[in-house]
Amino acid sequence: MTNNKCSRRVFLKLTAVTGVSSSLHPLMTSQALAAPKKQPNFVIIFCDDLGYGDLGVFGNPTIKTPNLDRMANEGQKWTSFYAAASVCTPSRAAILTGRLPIRSGMCSDKRRVLFPDSAGGLPASEITIANALKPAGYTSACIGKWHLGHLRKYLPTNHGFDSYFGIPYSNDMDNTGKSKRPFKDSKIEYFNVPLMRDTEIVERPADQTTITKRYTDETVKFIKQNKNKPFFAYLAHSMPHVPLFRSKDFADTSLRGLFGDVIEEIDHGVGRILDTLNEQGIAEKTLVVFTSDNGPWLSYKQQGGSAGPLRGGKGGTFEGGMREPTIFWWPGTIKQDVIMEMGSTLDLLPTFCSLAGAKVPTDRIIDGVDLTDPLTGKAKSPRDIMFFYRGTRIFAIRKGMFKAHFITKPEYGGGKEIAHETPLLYHLGHDPAEKYDVASQHPDVIADIKNEMKNHQAKLVPAIDQLALRIKK
Ligand code: MG
Repeated sequence: MTNNKCSRRVFLKLTAVTGVSSSLHPLMTSQALAAPKKQPNFVIIFCDDLGYGDLGVFGNPTIKTPNLDRMANEGQKWTSFYAAASVCTPSRAAILTGRLPIRSGMCSDKRRVLFPDSAGGLPASEITIANALKPAGYTSACIGKWHLGHLRKYLPTNHGFDSYFGIPYSNDMDNTGKSKRPFKDSKIEYFNVPLMRDTEIVERPADQTTITKRYTDETVKFIKQNKNKPFFAYLAHSMPHVPLFRSKDFADTSLRGLFGDVIEEIDHGVGRILDTLNEQGIAEKTLVVFTSDNGPWLSYKQQGGSAGPLRGGKGGTFEGGMREPTIFWWPGTIKQDVIMEMGSTLDLLPTFCSLAGAKVPTDRIIDGVDLTDPLTGKAKSPRDIMFFYRGTRIFAIRKGMFKAHFITKPEYGGGKEIAHETPLLYHLGHDPAEKYDVASQHPDVIADIKNEMKNHQAKLVPAIDQLALRIKK
């Protein structure tokens, strides 16, 4: 073992015990990083309704996530990384297209997400990460929750993916009415959700107790089968969206109860995926990203997650609704660090295209930016603004450290909508919990953010509302 390797192991062992250190061990900072390998593989592990405070490495005191903690220690933990919406469907449209959902019609003021009676979906004209990577020779698999249209023409295999295995929408849909309280002591038969392979239903109701394990199995299999050519695996877990299910091996194992069992099983799966990449000798040419589609569903109380120190949760535009616990991992290329600058799921498409030598679409507005420089430690994140939409309307805008709320409506079940004549203004560095309105001290900041809104809206082209379309009976 070389000295460098030995020191690295000691450092990782120490940080595993003490948590992620925001300052690097001196030997780590001097470690020479290679230039990004051409055409790396990409793996996105995308959770459903995971809160900012639900991982050990993001401060949870009773959920054990040793594999995600390790991933963060070896890679980058991002503390200001945003989903582009606070609910499933629009958030998923954004991560795959690099575009705000308002541009594709995948957000609505009539219905927040797609349902089993929906007739709409991600339009064929949209370019997903899988579409963009295909001309560069990538094979792509979608495993898990899709939620961008369950009719055949909208399924993943019609959006650039070579294969699909998963539940096409939320795991609480198709409620059979067999129980008056289907989320308490949930049983598989309470939710008649289909499990699909490519375009066919292969199991109904899907056995959700083994769904996390089976998604991980599929991902591991796909990685092994494609290890000699560039690939993109999009693993979108159905959990920890309610109803919560976990396999027997994880039943009653976490101090946090059922919700903790679910997260610990996801964490175990992350470990299996990282171990597979190491065993197959492709860890150093694979970028893995872990994040979530939106914040915790707080109205489900102990069955919902936690946004940690952040305000709000799923459905709302306070930080807890859209700031996600995010980790990037790519041994030998990523600079080990904690990044506090902004990033977004919108940025993955341009970043992956840049690394893969694939073309970023130029015939449309792409809202994402290339994060290669902050990942490799060359420069700060180029993202300095984030728009917080609720449906088709902008509720808030963050620019730099300031976030202005023009309209507020708390998380699902949290209260009424209020339009603010003078926006609420929070400094997210000093006040990440959005408690102390400093609008009166910074009229210049508010004027600047209002100007950003005006410029943004001037370029918006309305799209057909896909979420309002229903199957005719
Ligand atoms: Mg969700």
